[in-house]
Formats: sequence, C-alpha cells, structure tokens
Amino acid sequence: MINVTKAYLPPLAEYTKYLEGIWERCHLTNNGPLVQELEQKLKDYIGVKHLFFVNNGTIALQIAIKALSLKGEIITTPFSYVATTSSIVWENCIPVFADIDPDTLMISPAAIEKAITPATSAILATHVYGGPCEVEAIEKIALKHKLKVIYDAAHAFGTIYKGNSILNYGDISTLSFHATKLFHTTEGGAIVTNDDNLAHTISYMRNFGHKGQEDFWGLGINGKNSEFHAAMGLCILPRIKEIMDKRKQASKMYDSLLDNETIHKPHIFGNTIYNFAYYPVLFPSENILLRVRDALNAKQVFPRRYFYPSLNSLNFVYQQNMPVSEDISKRVLCLPLYYELSENDIEMISSVVNENTLVEN
Ligand SMILES: *Cc1c(COP(=O)(O)O)cnc(C)c1O
Repeated sequence: MINVTKAYLPPLAEYTKYLEGIWERCHLTNNGPLVQELEQKLKDYIGVKHLFFVNNGTIALQIAIKALSLKGEIITTPFSYVATTSSIVWENCIPVFADIDPDTLMISPAAIEKAITPATSAILATHVYGGPCEVEAIEKIALKHKLKVIYDAAHAFGTIYKGNSILNYGDISTLSFHATKLFHTTEGGAIVTNDDNLAHTISYMRNFGHKGQEDFWGLGINGKNSEFHAAMGLCILPRIKEIMDKRKQASKMYDSLLDNETIHKPHIFGNTIYNFAYYPVLFPSENILLRVRDALNAKQVFPRRYFYPSLNSLNFVYQQNMPVSEDISKRVLCLPLYYELSENDIEMISSVVNENTLVEN
C-alpha cells in the first residue's frame, strides 16, 4: 500500500541512545536538556532569533493569536488545512476569507485589501505546500493598515526565500512537526519570531504563565513538548538535507513522467529554494480527478485531496463565496511523496495518472 506520505523514521539505535539518557536523568518534560538542544539546533539551522518547541502546530497558531492580543476579524486563506481557520474561531476571532491566486494558490494581496474593515486586526496566511506567500505585498498592506501578520508555515520548514528562511517574515510564524510533515517530532510544532517582546510573552504563555513555582506572569496554557519528542527531532534534523534531496529527486521524476499538457502544478515564486514538502497536481476537472483517484486506489495507492474542501464551506464560519479556492480544491490532488518512495512506484503512479487523465468520457 502506498499512502500520500509515510513518516520518516531514523535508525532505532540512534533513538534508543537518547532514551538511555532520558532514563538516566529521569527528566521527561518541562524544558529538559533535549528540548533545549533541539530548540538551539533549530534556531541555528533556520536562522531565526527565537523559536519555541510546542506540542503541535495548532497550539502554535493559538498561542500566536493570543500573544498578539488579536481581536475581531482576521483575514485568512480558504485554501489551507482546517487548523488555520479553526484556531481563529477557537480564539474567539472571526475568520474573514480572502480568495487565492489561481496560479500560486496563495492568498491574494488584492483580495486581502478588499476584505479589510475597521474590525480587522491581522492577516493569517499559509505558505501553501511549502512555497512562499507574497510576503512583500502582505507586509506593505499590514504596515499601511497597522495589521499584525501570522504565517502558518506548517509546510515551510527548510524553504529559503531570497537567501533567508521564509520563517523570518511576519510578526510570528508557526511550524508543525507532525509525523506526516517533512521534518517531524512525532507530534510537535514551533512558534518562531524575531521580536524580543513577543518572545517574552510566548515563553510564559507556553508554560501555564508560570514565573517560578508560585508566581504567575499572566494567562498561559500547556504548550510544552517532551524529551521523547525532542529526541525524535534530534535524530531527524541531521538527515534533513538527505530527506529533502530524496524528495527533490522524486519530484523531478514525476515532473518528467507526468503529462504536462493536461496536468498542471501550482506556480512557485522565483528566488525560492523549495523544500519539496508536497507534490500537488491540478486536473482539468473534478471528474478527471475522481477517476484518477479511483484508478490509483484500485492499485492500492492513496493520494490525498489536500486541501479539500475549501475552508469557507466549514459549518462554523459564516458563508462567503470563494470561487477560486472552491474550484481549485475540487481539482487538486497530492501524489505520494516520501523518503522511501521508489522509482518503480513513481513510474507506476505516473502511468496510472496519465492514462486516466487522457480518457475522455
Ligand atoms: C499540519 C498543519 C497544521 C496543524 O499542525 P498539527 O501539528 O497537526 O497541529 C496547521 N496548518 C497547516 C497548513 C498544516 O498543514
């Protein structure tokens, strides 16, 4: 069986080495030495000032919204994973959608400007599939209208834009280290910022607001992550280049085998070193997509409709029409892409996709 992704696992002996240390110290969580080591190594690798390892990418978004004291309306993309929108609603703010660009699938700066009202406090955009949003245009709009910017960078670990990590943009960026992501810690995530004051706030919010054992800085939540999760990250981080290279080779192979006349790929901005987090393809119609998916399923291959449905159709947001996002989400499919995927698998998948794209009915 071939799924859309398969979690990367390091050699077991390397993980057990870390476990032996944990057993010796009996320090399982609460900012232990492995958590501190991982945070330092991630900051060095990414090249950012502050990074907080948290228990998942969704709590990272929620803490980001809280740390910026956001109220009222937050302009966001309808083309993302559900957590982008649900975090806004969970934090008692209102998601106002701005439609996406049909070529890049990123939130459209022009649509953001149109969606601004006196109640708007921030923009929450996603670096979809790991490619960069229009970060410069978004920064301009934010400055002009005094809005905060959060990037859901759950897909963007390792992506470089204009020579620096894409995580340097916005007030805060959030990462997910879920097992299905490019770099993972089983469950996990991170909050990234270059702002010292925000970092101060986040450091307390992540740990119940504790300021020592008996004193409290203010409102907090349990966003901490454990030594066991940090150990997984420490095993995988030294291999991240090899993991990305493997995925790059697989992506290039799909590029050369798929019928590029009828199957399109989202456009990635120039000046980008892509991380090859996903392999999304756009079909001419939903019918063709469904036919391709069924044919792949029959061969025990399970691609994923990602992102589907468009988030403006969720039953906990007020209804707004997002024609581009609705159309794209019906026609986009992520093909399997992971470290162990073999050349034979890619050839088989590509020929099933090509055959079923061409047949007219
Ligand atoms: C995976 C993902 C999340 C959620 O991350 P978790 O670590 O699973 O909570 C949020 N946003 C996007 C775009 C994601 O892909």
